[in-house]
Amino acid sequence: MQDVIRQLLAHLGEDPAREGLLDTPKRVEKALKFLTSGYAADVDSVLNNALFSVDYNEMVIVKDIDFYSLCEHHLLPFFGRCHVAYLPQGRVIGLSKIPRLVEIFSRRLQIQERLTSQIADTIREKVRPLGVAVVMEASHLCMSMRGVEKQNSLAVTSAMLGVFRDDARTRLEFLELIRRPEMAERALKAALPGLACVSEG
Ligand SMILES: [Zn+2]
Repeated sequence: MQDVIRQLLAHLGEDPAREGLLDTPKRVEKALKFLTSGYAADVDSVLNNALFSVDYNEMVIVKDIDFYSLCEHHLLPFFGRCHVAYLPQGRVIGLSKIPRLVEIFSRRLQIQERLTSQIADTIREKVRPLGVAVVMEASHLCMSMRGVEKQNSLAVTSAMLGVFRDDARTRLEFLELIRRPEMAERALKAALPGLACVSEG
């Protein structure tokens, strides 16, 4: 990978041999491997020891989970906050595993819509709850640095499964708990439109 990065620097018009750039290929390789370490992470081994049978059937919410990912169209960061909720059906997952799950899927090349669904689908599959809701709000550097759209705009995506899709009150309770009541109306109309990075150019 370091050779490729040296070539990339040359293609950008830089001198890969100048002092400040000598160790850059090594650093970039290390950083990129870390930022894409989610490919090597095994979801099952992370979750399997953390599923518990309980007699608890109220909504579980973990909100304001910070995440950092890379958009697959530009290899530039997008980052923000993720809110996750599920309504258990006799089974819960260790609370700390939810941010870990967000991290595993974030540390890959992503688009925000797929990242959102992967988190929701995995919780549905592993925890088998009555429903799952995931909302992600993110800034995309491929938009803000390139001057596309408004500089401070947030892309918001959501995945609503099971009771969060079928029952307006459950969905509303979740959206109010994450302070997103304005989304309730749009979420009523099933999936929100695609909002993530701008791929042209
Ligand atoms: Zn992008």
